[in-house]
Amino acid sequence: MTEPVPLPESLWAATATPPPPTPPLVGERRADVAVIGGGYTGLSAGLYLAEAGAEVAVLEAAEPGWGASGRNNGQINPSHRLDPDGIEARFGGEMGRRVVEAFAGSADLVFELIERHAIACDAVRTGWLQLAPDSRSMKANVALAEQWQRRGVAVRVLDGEETARRVGSEAYVGAMLDPRCGGLQPLGYARGLAGAALAAGAAVHGGSPALSLKREADGWRVATPDGAVVAETVILATNGYTDQLWPGLRRTIIPVNTFQAATEPLGENLRRTILPGGEVVTENRAVGFHYYRIDAGGRLIMGGRATFTEADRPQLYRVLHEVVPKLFPQLADARWQYRWAGKLALTSDYMPHLHEPASGVLMALGYNGRGVAPATLMGKLLADRALGAPQGDIPFPFSPVRPLPLHGLHPPVLYILLQIKRLREALGF
Ligand SMILES: Cc1cc2nc3c(=O)[nH]c(=O)nc-3n(C[C@H](O)[C@H](O)[C@H](O)COP(=O)(O)OP(=O)(O)OC[C@H]3O[C@@H](n4cnc5c(N)ncnc54)[C@H](O)[C@@H]3O)c2cc1C
Repeated sequence: MTEPVPLPESLWAATATPPPPTPPLVGERRADVAVIGGGYTGLSAGLYLAEAGAEVAVLEAAEPGWGASGRNNGQINPSHRLDPDGIEARFGGEMGRRVVEAFAGSADLVFELIERHAIACDAVRTGWLQLAPDSRSMKANVALAEQWQRRGVAVRVLDGEETARRVGSEAYVGAMLDPRCGGLQPLGYARGLAGAALAAGAAVHGGSPALSLKREADGWRVATPDGAVVAETVILATNGYTDQLWPGLRRTIIPVNTFQAATEPLGENLRRTILPGGEVVTENRAVGFHYYRIDAGGRLIMGGRATFTEADRPQLYRVLHEVVPKLFPQLADARWQYRWAGKLALTSDYMPHLHEPASGVLMALGYNGRGVAPATLMGKLLADRALGAPQGDIPFPFSPVRPLPLHGLHPPVLYILLQIKRLREALGF
C-alpha cells in the first residue's frame, strides 16, 4: 500500500472540518465513469454523476482538496480573467453568450451546493472588490462594470472615498463591487463536496494516483498503485498538477505557484479597520497584483507573487509581508502565523479549456486563478457530457488538446512569450 502525500501545512489545513474517509483503491473494479483528480472539478463532476445515478469512482493522488482547491484564497467569483465582451468575441456570438450566461451563475451554483449539502465552510456572500491602484486600471474597472451592467448584473463602480472606507486603505483610486461574490474556507468546501459525493453513492479514493490510462476492449483502464478502474468514460481533472497521463495535456498549460500568508487573528479594534464589510478583493494590475481577504477567524490572508519554482523558501513570502504595512500601516507589527503555496494553471487565452480528445475521454483545466466557482460549474458540465448530453448542448466549446508552442522553454521565458501573445491578441495584431 502506498502512503498518500500529506497535505501541506496551511491556514486551511489547520482550520478545515475533518476529511471524510477516502481510503485508497485496492483491487480492480468497474464504473460508469472514472474521475482523475479530487479538486473542485473532479469532486463536482463526481457529485453530479452520482446524483444522476451513475456509478462513479474519483481517484485522487493525495486527498480531496490537496491541490489548489484546498489552498486558494477562497474567493467565490463567477467571472473569468477574460471579460464578458472578450469571451463573446473569442467564442463567437451564440456560444460566447451561452458561456457568459452559464458562468455568470456559477457563484450561485456554489452557494446552492453549500446550502443543499450543508457544507461547513464559512461561506459568506459579501461581494468582491476589484481594486484600482491607478486611473488606468480604474478605466478598465469602469469598462468591465459597464459590460456586466449591460447584462443585467448589479455591479457598481466605487469612487476613491467609498473604496477607502470599505477596504480601510488609501492605496486605491476606486473599485468595482460585484455583489454575486463572497468567500469560503476552500479546503472545507472541497471536503464537503467529497462528503456529498460519497453520500450520493460515489466512491472517492485518496492515495490513489492514476498511473496509466489505456483503452482496452471493455473500456478505459485507469491503473493505480494497488488497483484499477475500468470505465466507459474517464474525466481528467488535474489542472495545475497535470502530469503525463494524457499525451500533450500538460503542455497546454503553464503551471504557476502562487503564495499566501495569514496573520494571527486580529484584535476586534484592528479587525474593524480592514474590510469591515467582509468583501474579498483582487488588485487590478497586470503584474505583481495582490489578492486578499479576512477569514472567519479574523486573520488577514494576503496572496500574490508567482513563481515557476517548486521551492518553498521563506524569502518567497517576503513580498507579502512587505506589502501589508504599505496598505495598512496599522498592521506594521502584524504577526504572521501561516504561509503556503499552490499551483494554478495559466492558458494562452485566459480561459479554461474543455477537451474530448477520444471517445469517452473528457478533461477540463486552465482556470487562470479563478476556479472556485468556474471549476465547480465545469465539473457539472463534464458530468452532463459523461451522462450523454450532446457536445452542442454544453455551454462551453470543446477544443483540441493543443500544446503551447515552445513549451519546453525555461518557464519564465515561456511566461513572457505567453504575455506577449495575450497582448497581441488583446490589441488585435
Ligand atoms: C494560491 C492560490 C490561490 C487561489 N485563489 C483563488 C480564489 O481566491 N478564487 C478562485 O476562484 N480561484 C482561486 N485559485 C484557483 C483555484 O483554486 C483553482 O482554479 C481550482 O481549485 C482548480 O480546481 P481543480 O479541481 O481543477 O484542480 P486542483 O484543485 O488543483 O486539483 C487537482 C488534483 O488532481 C490531483 N492529481 C493530479 N494528478 C493526478 C493523478 N495522476 N491521479 C490522481 N490525482 C491526480 C492532484 O493531487 C490535485 O488534488 C487559486 C489558486 C491558487 C493556487
